[in-house]
Amino acid sequence: MNDSPHIARKRFGQNFLHERGIIERILRAIDPQPGERIVEIGPGQGALTWPLLDRIKTLTAIEIDRDLIPRLRAEAPRHGELGIVEADVLTVDFTALAAGGTLRLVGNLPYNISSPILFHALDHAAVIRDMHFMLQKEVVDRMAAPHGNKVYGRLSVMLQAYCRVEPLFVVPPGAFTPAPKVDSAIVRLTPKAAADIPVHDRARLEQLVRHGFAQRRKTLRNALDGVASDEQLRAAGIDPGARAEAVAVADWLRLAAT
Ligand code: SAM
Repeated sequence: MNDSPHIARKRFGQNFLHERGIIERILRAIDPQPGERIVEIGPGQGALTWPLLDRIKTLTAIEIDRDLIPRLRAEAPRHGELGIVEADVLTVDFTALAAGGTLRLVGNLPYNISSPILFHALDHAAVIRDMHFMLQKEVVDRMAAPHGNKVYGRLSVMLQAYCRVEPLFVVPPGAFTPAPKVDSAIVRLTPKAAADIPVHDRARLEQLVRHGFAQRRKTLRNALDGVASDEQLRAAGIDPGARAEAVAVADWLRLAAT
């Protein structure tokens, strides 16, 4: 194993958390319990991995950077049983990993691919109990924004359609090495039960939301030209003269169901 210090790789979005107080706060938010199946995305140098493992004794971690794997393997036995999946998280089948149970996902996510990770997790929402992620604060603001807010958009609708989104607290750049340029934030996502989501076609919801927000200043009548008619909008209780920003998540879902 290479003993020299690991040099953070920008292409893997590596900003390692070092601030003890923040790590403790994240652990308190997760409140891990023995017997739970917790999966960490991007363990890095183990800032969250070791305290998690100390408490629950078994954990699965998904890491893409092969240089970090031997370091993780060497340290793990001091804390518990760490299952390491050496892969790009976007290729990991969480449903298979859940093996009939449910997963709790945690991670200080690589910011360059945070949205694809969120959408990938949504594909497996049925087996995910909850998620605690560190993301750029600006992304968390968009995820949690209510309709009418200027940062309400595709990410807000798609996540709020399927999950309860709770921003928990802000983490300043100084908590990481190297320090990112922006504030970060911890968010908790709790997938809704299927019975609580109106029956609809998710691909259709994505299509509507993508077109609706592509040009935010257009009215829905124009933005959704060829995608949804005035009649369909009205049937869903939506004013065709309104903008995407004004449409609540429940109304987008109703439109996707018409
Ligand atoms: N958890 C560590 C911490 O808090 O210090 C590291 C967080 S760092 C922001 C992101 C981690 O995700 C890095 O370890 C990086 O190598 C890993 N990573 C980046 N892209 C990944 C991918 N596609 N699949 C799995 N892990 C990835």
